[in-house]
Amino acid sequence: MQELYNIISDPSRVKLDGIEDKYLSDTLGRLKGTAAALVFPVSTEEVSGVMRFAHENGIPVTPRGAGTNLVGSTVPHGNGIILDLSLMNHVLEIDENTLTAVIEPGVFLQDFQRLVEERGLFYPPDPGEKASTIGGNISTNAGGMRAVKYGVTRDYVRGLELVLADGKVITVGSKNVKDASGLSLKNLIIGSEGTLAVITKCILKLIPKPERSLSAVIPFPDLNTGISAVLSIIRANVNPTAIEFAERSVISLGEDFTGLKFPCPEAGAYIIVTLDGRESEVSGNAELLREAAVKAGALDFITLDDPETAANIWKVRGCLVKAVEAVSEQEPVDLVVPIDKTADFIRRVHEVEEKSGMQMVAFGHAGDGNVHLCMVRGNRDDQQWEHDLRQNMTEVYNYAYSLGGLTSGEHGIGVAKRPYYLSSVSPDNLAVMRAIKSAMDDKHILNDHISYLE
Ligand SMILES: Cc1cc2nc3c(=O)[nH]c(=O)nc-3n(C[C@H](O)[C@H](O)[C@H](O)COP(=O)(O)OP(=O)(O)OC[C@H]3O[C@@H](n4cnc5c(N)ncnc54)[C@H](O)[C@@H]3O)c2cc1C
Repeated sequence: MQELYNIISDPSRVKLDGIEDKYLSDTLGRLKGTAAALVFPVSTEEVSGVMRFAHENGIPVTPRGAGTNLVGSTVPHGNGIILDLSLMNHVLEIDENTLTAVIEPGVFLQDFQRLVEERGLFYPPDPGEKASTIGGNISTNAGGMRAVKYGVTRDYVRGLELVLADGKVITVGSKNVKDASGLSLKNLIIGSEGTLAVITKCILKLIPKPERSLSAVIPFPDLNTGISAVLSIIRANVNPTAIEFAERSVISLGEDFTGLKFPCPEAGAYIIVTLDGRESEVSGNAELLREAAVKAGALDFITLDDPETAANIWKVRGCLVKAVEAVSEQEPVDLVVPIDKTADFIRRVHEVEEKSGMQMVAFGHAGDGNVHLCMVRGNRDDQQWEHDLRQNMTEVYNYAYSLGGLTSGEHGIGVAKRPYYLSSVSPDNLAVMRAIKSAMDDKHILNDHISYLE
């Protein structure tokens, strides 16, 4: 590992001992790995040098952004190298003529969003964790609330500079809007969780910033009615930016945690809808939305015109995971089902909850069927927790698969969801993916241990 001092120009950016715990884990926190080296490259050349060295010596490498993932995908293994890209955090270009930006992968999402919005532009992907890096967002194909209208991170990546496992540097994609030129290597990398290459530059698509954004809280007597209303809202052609759902019992946890109050406490469930666009478009769509919601059985329709009320509502919605964690350890699940199956799926979750005695808190992105579940540990000891969690997760995933659902909508697979993914993916698909992995990383050094591709 001493060779790393010849590759990384400043010795303070190489750590061979005393690696802090936070680099050996992620936000999931349940898993902790080991590593022989932690390096902080500042250029593509340094990343390339590290990869060449690792490849020649068959050393495992774990790329890392901000380590906020929720599936154990930055947990290193054995005597490998942690390649922390957080110092490659420069915005290189904002090109207002092509509405693109060229940035390094370590730029924080929140900083990038603020920067482009100051220029009247907009980068829509909006996962809940804003102190995450764009490189990490691309590697997990992060989604977030605005996916209903704007799509996910994949839809905003025009091109990437990559360092391959053997240290070669290539560019995939470009600033061009269209691309029917050969296989899309770019799309292979997006969502690949650091298993195929290291992203060292990102060409991103920008759009004009919407003039206005308006949210509304819509209480319903029960979740079923609320989720059915989601389809009516989508069909009403109001072009919603976000459609979130939460049951009353879950919102109560958020209220207790924040000390804030949600309207209409007699509701069984809430849908929160955001609209954005031109002023006139938003007002018109808000009226259509109200009509659609009332017709679908809403108890009320509360527009959040007042910025403070809107901020409080989103604060309660945004704190739900932390509210659960304040009470107990939990395992986050982010599976996705076809949008018309969400209520059916949650009904089954509650049956499993009742049968097993394990609390399961469900909320999420109703507009795209992405259900976030917190499987709550309670006072189980380690052995019981591992056992009950595996059993209940298996049941919940199997039901989601029977509805046509998928293992992950936006967090990725990592180590935590690996067994459930492997139980669902077809052997033929897996064989193709493993062949691609071997073609791009012949020695299987990039995040091999966390992946289903080994
Ligand atoms: C509170 C909270 C709320 C969240 N809400 C949402 C949500 O609403 N929607 C959503 O989609 N997600 C959500 N997430 C997940 C979030 O999208 C991810 O945590 C984030 O995208 C990861 O970014 P990161 O910089 O922390 O990457 P890391 O956690 O450091 O890495 C994630 C993966 O990317 C790889 N990687 C990182 N950088 C590179 C690179 N430059 N080249 C190659 N591989 C790389 C890593 O090896 C790892 O496999 C949430 C997370 C938290 C903690």
